[in-house]
Amino acid sequence: MSIDKINDLSLHNSAIAEALHRAAGRVIDSGWYAMGPEVTAFEKAFAAYCGATDAIGVANGTDAIELALRAVGVNAGDEVITVANAGFYSSTAIRAIGAVPVYVDIQESNLLMDVTCAAQAITPKTKAIIITHLFGQLADMQPLCALAKKHGLALVEDCAQSHGATANGKRAGSFGDIAAFSFFPTKNLGALGDGGAVVTSSEKLAARVRSLRQYGWTTKYTVADGGARNSRLDEMQAALLSVKLPLLDGWNEKRRQIARRYAEKIQHTAVRVPAIGGIDYVAHLYVIRCAQRDALKKHLHDHGIASDIHYPILDTQQPVTDGQYAAVALPVSEKMRSEILTLPCYPELTLDDVDVVANCINNWVA
Ligand SMILES: *Cc1c(COP(=O)(O)O)cnc(C)c1O
Repeated sequence: MSIDKINDLSLHNSAIAEALHRAAGRVIDSGWYAMGPEVTAFEKAFAAYCGATDAIGVANGTDAIELALRAVGVNAGDEVITVANAGFYSSTAIRAIGAVPVYVDIQESNLLMDVTCAAQAITPKTKAIIITHLFGQLADMQPLCALAKKHGLALVEDCAQSHGATANGKRAGSFGDIAAFSFFPTKNLGALGDGGAVVTSSEKLAARVRSLRQYGWTTKYTVADGGARNSRLDEMQAALLSVKLPLLDGWNEKRRQIARRYAEKIQHTAVRVPAIGGIDYVAHLYVIRCAQRDALKKHLHDHGIASDIHYPILDTQQPVTDGQYAAVALPVSEKMRSEILTLPCYPELTLDDVDVVANCINNWVA
């Protein structure tokens, strides 16, 4: 049974173990482990995949967001508009700069940023908007791009859950000024450890991120850029990611098949399945909604089926914020927080597995 886990990475990676071992062996034998040919090759392939001119490998997705924000000029005290239902990753990045997260509500239809709310939150201090393509969806980018342009704001895409999502022939990460990706092992494109990338088609921003990820160097040992750090993707992870990148579209298609099967099979008056479009959705997480979420979660658990909540705590309610956002009202985010439930969804899950989960939901007496 593969439904007692929300994801099964051993199944995922054992299917391509031989190729991964070959890539790892190549790196071990090369004697070169950081900032070498594997990173360069993966960066080139990933930029091309995303439809951008540059990808810059970094240590993880949270660093990718932070360095992207720094590259577009976000400084301490600047405001960055974001959502509160996306797991605090953006908040961590914004706060690391000393900038101020400004939280806006989401749309009930897809749980992504409500552009009208974003427009209302703009102040003279606003510097950037982070749009998180949550759960494998691709946000409707046209109104967001227009809003950012109108107010001279940087638009940063958080694509950690949306590798490969495509609309009008353009992939996630190619719409805004700059984008952040995570290659955490559970992501649609996952390393065998931590990894991330910043993607952009601006030569200037790319150069800035290349400097920021490596001590602020302009040339070796010349430190010209403040706000820098060491945040490198290593040769080993780059080599493993190069094995996986050509397989990403196939995996995303399998995820979509699973999502479509869930949508077709789940028939319960108390359960709402997500609206699924086309290839703008890469089914990173399959998130249903139910007013009696906790009871449904227990029912699934009692039948050996894993489920999870992404995410159980709004950013505005995290203990670290210390009540700072007590006056911020996010009614849709708050309502959704109590209703969302994530079902198993990963490429190796079979449609029979999906049917078992769907039947179990259908047999639940609410
Ligand atoms: C996973 C994730 C991140 C952070 O990536 P890490 O590599 O774990 O730092 C950022 N944003 C979203 C939406 C994510 O899902």
